[in-house]
Amino acid sequence: MKEERYDVVVVGAGPAGSMTAKKAAEHGLDVLLIERNQEIGVPVKCAEGVSKEIEQLVALDKRWVCAEVKGANIYSPDGTKVVMGGENMEEVGYVLERRIFDKFLASEAARAGAEVSVKTEAYGIIKENGYAKGVYVRCMGENKRVSARVVVGADGVESRVGRWAGIDTRLPPHNISVGAEFLMCNIEVNRDYTEFFVGSEIAPKGYAWVFTKGGNYANVGVGIGGDTSGEKHRAIDYLKAFARNKFPDGKVVAEMYGAVPLSGPLNETVGDGLVLVGDAARQVNPITGGGITYAMHAGGIAGDVVAQAVHENDVSKKNLMEYDRKWRKEFGKRLDTGLKAKEFCFNLSDEDLNTLAHSLADKRVTELTPWALLMALIKRNPRMLMGLAKVLL
Ligand SMILES: Cc1cc2nc3c(=O)[nH]c(=O)nc-3n(C[C@H](O)[C@H](O)[C@H](O)COP(=O)(O)OP(=O)(O)OC[C@H]3O[C@@H](n4cnc5c(N)ncnc54)[C@H](O)[C@@H]3O)c2cc1C
Repeated sequence: MKEERYDVVVVGAGPAGSMTAKKAAEHGLDVLLIERNQEIGVPVKCAEGVSKEIEQLVALDKRWVCAEVKGANIYSPDGTKVVMGGENMEEVGYVLERRIFDKFLASEAARAGAEVSVKTEAYGIIKENGYAKGVYVRCMGENKRVSARVVVGADGVESRVGRWAGIDTRLPPHNISVGAEFLMCNIEVNRDYTEFFVGSEIAPKGYAWVFTKGGNYANVGVGIGGDTSGEKHRAIDYLKAFARNKFPDGKVVAEMYGAVPLSGPLNETVGDGLVLVGDAARQVNPITGGGITYAMHAGGIAGDVVAQAVHENDVSKKNLMEYDRKWRKEFGKRLDTGLKAKEFCFNLSDEDLNTLAHSLADKRVTELTPWALLMALIKRNPRMLMGLAKVLL
C-alpha cells in the first residue's frame, strides 16, 4: 500500500478542520487536510447563522456573507413575539453562504502551506503502542496509508475518528437534533431579524427557523429532538407543514437533512497522538444548535497546541491536554450552561412557553440578550423557573 508522511493529518474540511490545518501550517508543520466530499462546503447542512463573534476568528468577506441581522424574533406556540438583540447574541449577526465560506477557510489553510485533498475518505486509524499514528484513506479508488505524528478528528457529527481511537463518542437519540431545511425563494422574509418558532406541533424539542439569505430567499428549517422522530413525525414532515402554512406561495430550490449533537462536549477531547475538534468533540451549544464559531475557535487552539507538541517531540495525551484545558476555559462554560438550559426548556409545555412569552410581551422588555432574557424570565416567573434559576445562578 502506498504510504505518505506528514506531521499532522486532519480528517474533515469543515470549519474545525480547516482552522486547525491553517494554524498548524502557520507554525511550520507539514499538514494534510482531507475531505471525503468532492467539493468542500457541499452539500450544505446548516442554517448558516453566526454571531458577530465570527469577526474575532476571521476577517469578514462579502463573498460569503449573505445578510447581516440585528437580532432574533422568537414566536411562542400561540404566536406571541419576543425580540432578542444585542451584541452578544448567538446565531445572529450574519447569515453565511457556507458553500463559499467553507472553501474559503480551506483555501486559507492551503495558503498557509497545508496540502488539501478532496474525495479522500479516512476509513481507519493507524495505532502503535496506544498512539494514533495516522489514518488509512481511500482516494480515487486507491487505498493509502497516511502516517502522521498527530491525527485530528474534525469529521463532524458522524465522527468515527474518536471512536476508532477508543473514545466514547456515542450520541443517544435524545442528545441529537435532527434537522430538515429548504432554501426557499419567492417569499416575504424579515431581512433584519432571524426568526424562530417554538411549540410541540411545530417542532417537538426543537424549533423552526427562517433565516434571510438576502432578497426573497431564506433558509427555512425545522430541528426536532432525535427521540421524538418517527413515522410521519420526521423533521421533514414538520418542515413541510410549517413551510406550507407560513409560505404557501414559496418555492423550494434546495433541500437538505442533517443532525446536530446536543449532548454538550465530550469528557475527553484528546488522546495519545489524537485531537478531536468541532462537532466531532460535540462543541455545539445545546440550546441553540450553533457550532460554527465554536468549531473555528477550537480549531485555532488545536492548531497552536498540536504545533507546540510536535516541536517539543511529545504528542502524548498529557501534553495535548493543553488543548482540552484551553478550549474549556474559553467557551466550555457556555456549552455547559446551554446544556442545562436545553434540559430545562425542552421539558416546558406549550402552555408554559406561552406564559413565558406573555410575561415579556410588553413594551418595556423588547431588545434582550439571551442572558438578559433568561434573567427577565426568571424574575417574572419565579415559581415556574425556579429549577432553571438553580442550575444557572
Ligand atoms: C440543520 C442544521 C442547521 C445548523 N445551523 C447552524 C447555524 O445556523 N449556526 C451554527 O453555528 N451552526 C449550525 N449548525 C451546526 C454546524 O453546521 C456545525 O456545528 C459545524 O458545521 C461544525 O463544523 P465541523 O467542522 O466540526 O464539522 P462539519 O462542518 O460537519 O465538517 C466535517 C467534515 O468532515 C468530513 N468528513 C466526515 N467523515 C470523514 C472521513 N471519514 N474522511 C474525510 N472527511 C470526512 C465531512 O464530509 C465534512 O465536510 C447546523 C447543523 C445542522 C445539521
